[in-house]
Amino acid sequence: MSVSELASAIVESPTLRLNEEARLLRERGEPVIHLGIGEPKNKTPITAILSSAAKLSQGDVKYCPSDGLPSLKKAIIRYTEEAYDKVVAPEQVIVSSGAKQALFNILYTILNPQDEVVILAPYWVSYPEMVKMVHGVPVVVTPEDGSFHPRMADIERAVSSSTKALIVNSPNNPSGIVYREEFIAQIVDFCERRKIYLIMDDIYHKLVFDGRTAPPCYRFTTRDVEDSRLIVVNGIAKLYGMTGFRIGWCVAPRKIVTVMNNVQAQTTSCASPVMQAGAEGALLGLQSVVEALRLTIQNNRDVAMRELSSFNGVKTYKPDGTFYCLPDFRAYSANSVELSSFLLKKALVVTVPGREFGMEGHLRLSFAGTVKDVTEGIARIKWALDPTSPNDIYIGDKRLIRDWL
Ligand code: PMP
Repeated sequence: MSVSELASAIVESPTLRLNEEARLLRERGEPVIHLGIGEPKNKTPITAILSSAAKLSQGDVKYCPSDGLPSLKKAIIRYTEEAYDKVVAPEQVIVSSGAKQALFNILYTILNPQDEVVILAPYWVSYPEMVKMVHGVPVVVTPEDGSFHPRMADIERAVSSSTKALIVNSPNNPSGIVYREEFIAQIVDFCERRKIYLIMDDIYHKLVFDGRTAPPCYRFTTRDVEDSRLIVVNGIAKLYGMTGFRIGWCVAPRKIVTVMNNVQAQTTSCASPVMQAGAEGALLGLQSVVEALRLTIQNNRDVAMRELSSFNGVKTYKPDGTFYCLPDFRAYSANSVELSSFLLKKALVVTVPGREFGMEGHLRLSFAGTVKDVTEGIARIKWALDPTSPNDIYIGDKRLIRDWL
């Protein structure tokens, strides 16, 4: 059976594949710990449930405007003003089925074949694949100093006359780093001068720890959204832990939104209005749920750091935000794919290989789960890798003896 060259070149989503593997193992009764997934354990905020349920109970669930329910767009405009001190018009906002669809539609809207998009490593796995899907060319910039913070000079060197856009994700999945204020300022200025779109994936922008904030791009421009090259992506998946609702959005100049809307209208018609009503309920409801989630995740981060610090060879950057850390496991293996498979097989712990994020030798660990999962998951990894740790462990109700070190 033939499939297109383009489609067959797109790699599977490693995180979704790992989810499936973990699910199958669990179904077989195996006590798997999932440190792979970026999904908090909280329940959907009650205001989101009530709002979705109200929409559903009207029994009138039909197509809605493809750029989103006007009432949800209003809530997003309010959110944008509160979070970024930026007043935007409804025509500068489009609602999609998740931030993922928003990002894809942006790339589809702005790229011609062979246009280049600069992506900063470590990067979220989907960026390069999405760029390829719309016939663009991903150009990855990797910090040479082994840190997770990109340098402006490296970005300038990577930009060519074919560069159409730069994607910035801060707080960053997978490293948890928040890019410095001077860096965001420089990048905004650079993109405006060079007429390059700056796509800010702000999906984690409220999930920041230790009293810090993630510097928003709007702070560093005097231009109105309409005259700028700034496109900001957001959503409810990480903000409220509402991953399954599949609602995200973007704020961009009108022209971009209009074309994105045509793309969306011809592909998905609109995001489900039931789920949009849920997003509206969350955005208009009590925002203490965001702070409660942030505090839970910050505590989990601290637990993860404490557990990882007892590993002799593992170097870890303490995340400033997100649910993830990206420890350097090269003392144990240079091959993160093999290491991740080994850990799943021997210790029943799901991790994501750093190679998928452009950082070989590292593993992405998520601390979005319970404290028990984080503690036990890291203890299992330590048992499997560190010869100085005791060589027996309980996994579920089985006592296992390590016989490979
Ligand atoms: N951007 C980043 C950096 C992410 O980590 C994710 C989710 N893992 C998304 C976008 C997609 O978000 P959504 O679930 O709203 O599609």
